[in-house]
Amino acid sequence: MQKELLLFQKLAEKLIKAEKQEPIITPIPPKELFNILPLALQAQPADDAFFENALEKLVLNTPRTATNLFFNQLFGGRNPKATLGDLLAVLLNNSMYTYKVAGPQVGIEKEILRKSCDLIGYGKDADGTFAPGGSMSNFMAILMARDAHNDSIKKEGVLQKMTAYTSIESHYSTSKNAAFIGIGREQVRYVATNEFGQMDPKDLSVKIAEDIALGLQPFFVNATAGTTVLGAFDEITPLSKICKQHKLWLHVDGAYCGSVIFSKKYKHLVEGVALTDSFSYNAHKMMGTPLTCSIILTKHKKYLHDSFSNDATYLYQTDGDDYNLGKTSIQCGRRNDALKFWTLWKSVGTLGLEKIVDQQFHLAEVARNYIKSNPDYTLYSFDDSISICYNYKGIPAQDLCTLLYQNSEAMVGFGIFRETEFVRLVTINAGNDDKDIINFFKICEAFVTKNESLFSLKG
Ligand SMILES: *Cc1c(COP(=O)(O)O)cnc(C)c1O
Repeated sequence: MQKELLLFQKLAEKLIKAEKQEPIITPIPPKELFNILPLALQAQPADDAFFENALEKLVLNTPRTATNLFFNQLFGGRNPKATLGDLLAVLLNNSMYTYKVAGPQVGIEKEILRKSCDLIGYGKDADGTFAPGGSMSNFMAILMARDAHNDSIKKEGVLQKMTAYTSIESHYSTSKNAAFIGIGREQVRYVATNEFGQMDPKDLSVKIAEDIALGLQPFFVNATAGTTVLGAFDEITPLSKICKQHKLWLHVDGAYCGSVIFSKKYKHLVEGVALTDSFSYNAHKMMGTPLTCSIILTKHKKYLHDSFSNDATYLYQTDGDDYNLGKTSIQCGRRNDALKFWTLWKSVGTLGLEKIVDQQFHLAEVARNYIKSNPDYTLYSFDDSISICYNYKGIPAQDLCTLLYQNSEAMVGFGIFRETEFVRLVTINAGNDDKDIINFFKICEAFVTKNESLFSLKG
């Protein structure tokens, strides 16, 4: 292994140097991929030099998500302490199903879950687990809701028409998950949003009443803390009242921005979260840990256990359920997603996690102020969001984003709200500072000026 560790160090240093010199790589067109890079597998072994060279080419030609010009997704940057944790998790290679195999790593996971439950005020019967991503956290939530609604479905299958509710601005996973749990995609109702992209409780009530009148069985409402495009937060308290009235499970999908729970200044955005039945957040988004690190919490430990446990004498042989985390997870073999978050949390403290969140909102304000003070820009998003949606000089957002990418200038994506398309800048990399944000705008402006012929400029 000594040789590989040295090679790793060498490749890592090359990458980090390259990231500074060239934050955005020149993308390889998919059709040329197999001609340009030595990806093909052969019968004969590769010799050391060829192997190293192939790896280096691969590493240096992979899109750079850790640099100060990557704003394309709801993750970015590289937190060194979290990365160290993940490297150690790979080296240790435990599977997180039993205490016998994972030992103290189980304690790492339990500690994060317990602290997270405490932060949102879930009480002593709460529990949770690490799921393989936010979509799967949402899956676990809707499945618990299904079984809480009718315990016999696990055995008999879904025999009734059950309906779920989520806003039109919510993540697409609710629809997929509805199919997975057997109720069907067509039983998802899309609730209207207000002008800020937040779910409209009145429309929710109307839709629930309509379904009840038709003899259907509403069972689940998905609220969002940080919608994928605008970064909007649904107001939880009014939704909770409706759910209590009709005995529906209320889940908050905080994959994107649920981490506001760490900030005194911003946790009001999820006010009422203690009233919900489940809550999820992705530490690999706002907290900046490597992918994937998604946490699903529920106030009702019982439902987590009832929906996901299975006895297996070949697996669960020692130590009892509380420390055999496989009893509450969706997988069997499960990678250790907890350690990377723990190394980060341990090293900076809860106060350090708060600083990460506050820095993201600060950078968002820097971006919004820049846009507001420049007449070439139109702003489409709102305060209290780390998604900054705008248009520059009336250029179609899709064209601008694609050309910036193809010309290795910057990576940023576009979004749509109420039929308006715009650039969506995400200030999720807390390693950035004010000048990185201004630099991004300057790079885009210079690119447009230099290539005016590519854009049909308004006016
Ligand atoms: C990113 C995101 C998800 C999906 O999370 P993955 O980890 O990518 O599966 C779900 N909901 C929201 C609101 C998201 O932003």
